[in-house]
Order: sequence, then structure tokens, then C-alpha cells
Amino acid sequence: MVSDKAPMIDPFGRAVTYLRVSVTDRCDFRCTYCMAENMTFLPKKDLLTLEELERLCSAFIAKGVRKLRLTGGEPLVRKNIMYLIRQLGEHIKAGALDELTLTTNGSQLARYAHELYDCGVRRINVSLDTLDAAKFKSITRWGDLNKVMEGIQAAQDAGLKIKLNAVALKGFNEFEIPEMIRFAHGRGMDLTVIETMPMGEIDEDRTDQYLPLSKLRADLEEQFTLVDIPYQTGGPARYVEVKETGGRLGFITPMTHNFCESCNRVRLTCTGTLYMCLGQNDAADLRTALRASDSDDYLSAAIDEAIGRKPKGHDFIIDRTHNRPAVARHMSVTGG
Ligand code: SAM
Ligand code: SF4
Repeated sequence: MVSDKAPMIDPFGRAVTYLRVSVTDRCDFRCTYCMAENMTFLPKKDLLTLEELERLCSAFIAKGVRKLRLTGGEPLVRKNIMYLIRQLGEHIKAGALDELTLTTNGSQLARYAHELYDCGVRRINVSLDTLDAAKFKSITRWGDLNKVMEGIQAAQDAGLKIKLNAVALKGFNEFEIPEMIRFAHGRGMDLTVIETMPMGEIDEDRTDQYLPLSKLRADLEEQFTLVDIPYQTGGPARYVEVKETGGRLGFITPMTHNFCESCNRVRLTCTGTLYMCLGQNDAADLRTALRASDSDDYLSAAIDEAIGRKPKGHDFIIDRTHNRPAVARHMSVTGG
């Protein structure tokens, strides 16, 4: 199905060409900045089926979406997820989609890497906040660093390009980033560091975790030469080249630098709710439109209506007077 439509344009003139889909809010880890240990997940009966998710994604592709990222929760723990990935891969083969990718914690990669490549996936993001097994256990609560390392190796062996994502956490990994830069660049991977965002109740105080990347960058510049480069992956990261390693380092700074002016994306949850901004509560219910008819006319109209109210941006703040979540939902609902 090749898109014959111009891209969807929001009220601020931004083309919406990127859809992120949280295929499940469940996860086999419990990262401390992301979830509480005892999470209440969405009831299974509220989930869209994989066939419904496919239909929704195809409707977006028909309306000009060119890049699709599956996320979660952990996308690879959803039952039969490879069925959806294989179906979506058909849009790559047909030339209707430029990229199908996913963000994963890496725990299931050893099992799925080859199949992902076979379905048309070429690049993935793997979240990794530390290279130390004990620290990894403490930050993910339930994760096993060895399994993730095996997954990264399997993905590289399968031909997948990997970008590592690390959330910068004060007092946790702020002094480990140089080692992570050397690790990633030594294996041909980009590394992106991300500021923590105030999303959802967690068991800890976010003020204690928040590390502004302006500070991290200043610290890194004491031992590395960082050169700004215009490299773009369609996401909000701003990249530098690290002269000493020859690799790329990205900074995602939702807190210290507002990047909303170039936002090209919307986010779909596994219940068919569309969030037009990660940091705002306004949403559109696409499940009702999807189930109202076998034709996509209602759905298409509901998508247009939603894009017509995409907000200008978010306003996250973390300090001593703002240590409550800016939005109540966790990152695992809308995906990172
Ligand atoms: N489970 C997968 C993973 O960890 O890659 C995909 C979903 S996870 C919610 C996506 C990304 O969001 C991860 O890189 C994670 O580190 C990041 N993340 C989760 N909670 C966050 C928060 N409160 N602030 C910033 N990043 C967060
Ligand atoms: Fe799971 Fe990803 Fe959240 Fe960690 S960041 S708890 S791996 S969804």
C-alpha cells in the first residue's frame, strides 16, 4: 500500500510522519526511574489484538507515516509479537514505510534478532544504563546484564545496527558515561544519553535522580573533544562526534532544552489511545473508531481530528517544588 497522500500536518505546520506504538505496557524489568516495583498493568481485555494494531498502523501509513517504532513496556514480551512485526515489514517491502524499528531492553534479543532482520528491521535501540552487573540489577530490579549483552551480540551478528540509550542518573551512572562511550563506540554503536522525565509515580524521588545533560556534557568535555554535528535520525537527539573514539554521542534533553518545535511524531498505546504529545494528557480514542466499522473511514477521520489538536509542546519541570509527575501515566504506557 503506497501512500498517495501528502503527510498529515498539525496546527503548527509540523508534518506528522513518525508513529510510535506501545504494543504492551508490561515488562520483564522494573527500572526504578520508569516503574514502581508493584505495577498495576492494563487489564488484558482492554488490549487491542495484534490484528487491530496492524490495522491501525496501516491506516497511519496510508496517511503518510514513513517511520514506525514499536516500544512498550517491553515490546518483545508481547505474545506473538513477531506476527505483527512480520506484517508491518510488508510495508517496508512495498516501499510504503521507510523504517520499522523498535526500542527494547535487550532481554529477548538473542531469541529474536535474526527474525527481526528477516522482517525488514535494520536498526534498533537498546536501553542500557550501566555496564556493571550489580548496578544493572539494582537499576532494573529484575534484569540480567549477561542476557542483554548476549542479545546485543546476537543483534550485531544478525546485521542489526544498534544505538544504545542510557538514562543519565545522578549518582548512579554519571561517572560511568565515559566507559559507556568507549564500549559503544568500540563496537560500532552510537550512544544516546537521556534526561529523566517526570512521568508516572515511581518508588523514588525524581529530584534525586535528575541529572541535567548540560552538566554531563561539561564533565565529558574535560576528557573528550565533542564536536557538534548535523547528524539526525528523525528523533529529538542532538549529536556530537567524540574525536577520541570517532563515534557519535546523542543528547536528548527534554528538560533542559525544549525540542518540540521539530516534533514529527504521535504515540499510540496498546489500547488504541493516541497521545499527540508525550508530556501532555490530551488523547484520542482510536479504538472506538477502529471497532465501529470494517471500513477505515471513521478511523481516518478520527486520526485527522486528533492531529488537528496536536499541542505545541510539553513543559516538564523537576525541582524541589515540582517533584510530582507532570503526567500520571508511566513512560511504559506511551513508550519512550
Ligand atoms: N522496555 C523498552 C526499553 O527499555 O528500551 C522500551 C520501553 S522504555 C519505556 C523506552 C525508553 O524510555 C528506555 O530507554 C527507558 O530508559 C526510557 N525511560 C523510561 N522511563 C523514563 C523516564 N521517566 N525518563 C526518561 N526516560 C525514561
Ligand atoms: Fe521496562 Fe523499558 Fe521501563 Fe525498564 S525502561 S521498566 S525495560 S519499559
